[in-house]
Amino acid sequence: MSESLSAQQLLRIRSKLETVVAEQPDSRAAESASAALQRMRSGEYGYCIECGDEISAARLAAKPDVALCVDCQALKDEEEDA
Ligand SMILES: [Zn+2]
Repeated sequence: MSESLSAQQLLRIRSKLETVVAEQPDSRAAESASAALQRMRSGEYGYCIECGDEISAARLAAKPDVALCVDCQALKDEEEDA
């Protein structure tokens, strides 16, 4: 069973994402950070946008704007390599 993010972790992640948006406007990183913020507002943050699986807290902490679970990311990476 995966561990969910605590409210405190979530706050920290949100401020990290907001910093990226503020400091690097118009970058790819900002685009992906604001998409993550949008998912936070709609309550979808922390779930894979492909399959809906919960993304592990450790993965989110390491890469706050991540939108895919490990499995979907692996598939996508494979496609991009091909
Ligand atoms: Zn997935």
